[in-house]
Amino acid sequence: MYGYAQLTVIQVLTHLDTTYGTVDAFDLAHNLKRMNATWSPSQPIEDLWNQIKDAQKFAADHDPITDQYAVRSALENLENSGMFTDSLRDWRKPTIAAQQSFATMETHFTAADKERRRILTSKGMGYANKATEAKSNKDSPASTKGDKNGVPMYYCWSHGLGPNGNHTSASCSKPVTGHRKDSTADNMLGGCCQIHRKAGERAIYRRPQRPNRDNDENQPPADPAQG
Ligand SMILES: [Zn+2]
Repeated sequence: MYGYAQLTVIQVLTHLDTTYGTVDAFDLAHNLKRMNATWSPSQPIEDLWNQIKDAQKFAADHDPITDQYAVRSALENLENSGMFTDSLRDWRKPTIAAQQSFATMETHFTAADKERRRILTSKGMGYANKATEAKSNKDSPASTKGDKNGVPMYYCWSHGLGPNGNHTSASCSKPVTGHRKDSTADNMLGGCCQIHRKAGERAIYRRPQRPNRDNDENQPPADPAQG
C-alpha cells in the first residue's frame, strides 16, 4: 500500500469529506483568529469565554483545541487588557496552578471582573457625588437650600424658599419677629412656608377656605424685592 495510490479519486474525496466535512484549513485558521481576537475590558468578560468556547466547538471534529491552548489564549487577552494584575498573580500561585482548567479560569476571572466593575461603579458614583457637593458648596456655603425640580433653592425663615443664593435665613436683610438664622429648607423651625414667584408673576392660587380652621396659621410677611 502506498498511501492513497490505490484509491479512486472519488474515494479520496469521500475520505476528505468525512474527515473535514466542509471545513478546510482556511476555516480552521480563521477560527483560531476569532478565538484569539482582542477582547476589550469594556466588553462583558463572557464575550471572551464565548469566543474561545465557540472556537473549540467549531474545531472539535476537525482539529480539536485543547483546554491548555484555550487557557493560554484567554491569558494572553487578559494580560493585554492590563486590568487583571492581581488576579493574574493569584492565578499563577501554585495552589491554583495545579488545577488550571479552562473552567477554573472562567470562574476565577469572572469573579475578578465582577469585583473590578463593582469598584469602577462605586468610584464613578463617588465622583458624581463629589461633583454635586462641589456645586452645592459653590452655590451656598450654608446648607440652607432645598431643591425645586432640580433648580437650587434657598430658604429664609422670614421669606420662604427662593432661587437667590444670597438670601438665606443666615443672610436675610429684612428678618421679621422670631426670625431663626439657623432654619433651613429641611428644618424650617416654624418659618415661612412660601416659595417665591418669579418677578412679575401674578398669583392666581387662593388658599381654599376651611371653615373649621380659621386663622390658625399666620400669614407670611410680604416678600421684599428679591435679587
Ligand atoms: Zn428673608
